[in-house]
Amino acid sequence: MINAPRLDINLDKIHDNARILVERLADKNISVTGVTKATLGSLKIAEALLHAGVSTLGDSRIENIKSMRHAHDKVQISLIRSPMLSQAKQVVHYSDVSHNTELEVIGALSAEAQKQKRVHGVILMVELGDLREGIMPCDMESMVRETLKFSNIAFKGIGTNLACRSGVSPDATNMNELSTLADTLDTTFGFVMETISGGNSSNLGWALSDVDTGRINNLRLGEAILLGCDPLNREPIEGLHIDAITLSAEVIEVKIKPSKPRGDIAETAFGTVKTSKDNGLISQALLAAGEQDIDPNGLLPPDCMEIIGASSDHLILNAGSQQLPIGSEIKFIPNYSALLRAMTSPFVSKVIE
Ligand SMILES: *Cc1c(COP(=O)(O)O)cnc(C)c1O
Repeated sequence: MINAPRLDINLDKIHDNARILVERLADKNISVTGVTKATLGSLKIAEALLHAGVSTLGDSRIENIKSMRHAHDKVQISLIRSPMLSQAKQVVHYSDVSHNTELEVIGALSAEAQKQKRVHGVILMVELGDLREGIMPCDMESMVRETLKFSNIAFKGIGTNLACRSGVSPDATNMNELSTLADTLDTTFGFVMETISGGNSSNLGWALSDVDTGRINNLRLGEAILLGCDPLNREPIEGLHIDAITLSAEVIEVKIKPSKPRGDIAETAFGTVKTSKDNGLISQALLAAGEQDIDPNGLLPPDCMEIIGASSDHLILNAGSQQLPIGSEIKFIPNYSALLRAMTSPFVSKVIE
């Protein structure tokens, strides 16, 4: 067995999740961009997504796109975070399309594309309430007009992103606003735009309900495919695997200890002052994984165990009545935050099979 802490990633389950979502959304004429950023652009996972029928790949980091590009010459890959001006050259070289909100950046992408004898696709992102990236709707017409002037830019369409920063839920109101905007722009400019990208995994509740999805013809899905849950409430999505990815950590100490610390209580290593209830003696287990590797608040432990603390390198469990041998492993289901942290920690092994 490969060292713990360890992420075990089951490609068949990820494939199933992606295929089911691709099929359900196809009924609504919505294509899926498989978002790979939480997997560091893993080639095996990208392949599973493509095999499951996603139409394009998307990632927020050019480094991930670069490695996927080397393996997949022909696949359309989008940069779904607004490009850094300083990375215009790589963005044009490695991605086909990028999501944009600044004319200065689009200008730099066009100049780079000219040098590289390419045409770079641009999706303009619209602000619809969540207050992260996006052009204010009233400025869209002039942004499209300016974007169309660049020689080496192909205007591909519009998109929006909700829920990530402020938790604003995609619903009939904001999605209709995006559809109406698409109609208005099409009429004004006399084209029919190719892509209207309605959002991320948090759009699934809306998209798969009994609504008219209007002009929305693309969603960008990461979390729902990888973790099988709806980011708006973290409830499992019917029919999807929620254990495609698990996190295992090794037991390094088990002792009967008081549940309440003794001594004067000040700040902990992470700055919080903890108040503990006295539950008498408990069986406390220490695991060799900590804040450097995982988000302790984002791990679901096995039944009858409880996470009661964490520091940089330790996770502390109330083992309940469970006998945990030293050296045994405990398996958790990570949420998105724990998954991101584990994926980016060099101390966590990743086993993809
Ligand atoms: C991360 C991200 C996504 C995917 O979000 P999930 O919730 O993982 O589906 C989609 N679009 C943008 C712009 C993102 O940054």
